[in-house]
Amino acid sequence: MKRTKLLFAFLLALFTMNGVAQDKPIENVLVCKGMIMPDSLPVHNILLNEAYIVPAMEMYPDWENTRVHYTAELPDSFRIDLTGFVMPTESRKITDIFGYRPRRRRMHNGLDIKVQTGDTIYAAFDGKVRITSYQRRGYGHYVVIRHNNGIETLYAHLSKKLVTEDQNVKAGEPIGLGGNTGRSTGSHLHFETILLGKCIDPALLFDFKNQTTTGNSYVYRKPGSKYIENGKVKYAGPEPKYHKVKKGDTIERIARKHGVSQRTIMKLNGLNSRSILHPGQNLRYQ
Ligand SMILES: [Zn+2]
Repeated sequence: MKRTKLLFAFLLALFTMNGVAQDKPIENVLVCKGMIMPDSLPVHNILLNEAYIVPAMEMYPDWENTRVHYTAELPDSFRIDLTGFVMPTESRKITDIFGYRPRRRRMHNGLDIKVQTGDTIYAAFDGKVRITSYQRRGYGHYVVIRHNNGIETLYAHLSKKLVTEDQNVKAGEPIGLGGNTGRSTGSHLHFETILLGKCIDPALLFDFKNQTTTGNSYVYRKPGSKYIENGKVKYAGPEPKYHKVKKGDTIERIARKHGVSQRTIMKLNGLNSRSILHPGQNLRYQ
């Protein structure tokens, strides 16, 4: 018991030195520590864990209720803790994936999941509601939540919002009802996962088909950044890019268009030379 107390005092001192403990909610820091700090863990393991928990609290110095995406300096790498998640919807049906839509010449910053109007939408992790707003030509009724694990999640096209700005929420708490508001054809949930203003493909974190996460954590790496794996220096790959399959497209044609090899496309999408492409399907080519 004495040892635990000492450890807390030590870590608290460390946080204070880094300027974390001032006007930030200290109980969040303690909650994080409590979750990962069984008595038996060696100190160095705890400090290793802290290495990515501290930035999660420090990364967002300001709190405001207007900008959904804003530009902030991203760290070279950041581990997103996915434990304690709850799926935002029980629906398993993805109707559109993340990525560039050439026909509309714009990015689709999230994942579309089929939901019915009135279906309950849940907070994916513990956090604090940063924005509840309405965009007639965009998101419709939407909610943005900042989570203790460092990411923000956005839920759009809701028929009703069930939370208010600055409200603390628990993972799994109902935050709205599914709908078809804003720029939407047919009721669905538009779901975004955002790290410091940058949209990350939610499919890298959440597996809606199997109603789970892709693992206990996901490491975001800045494209081209250096990292060590199994004692070897590696470089993070480029941002993923996607091609929406049109009628008559073949792997060969898509490969030529984007200047990549057919093998790359097959490997990235789990295809082989006999795979049949379907119009509307999104293929990753980078
Ligand atoms: Zn969408």
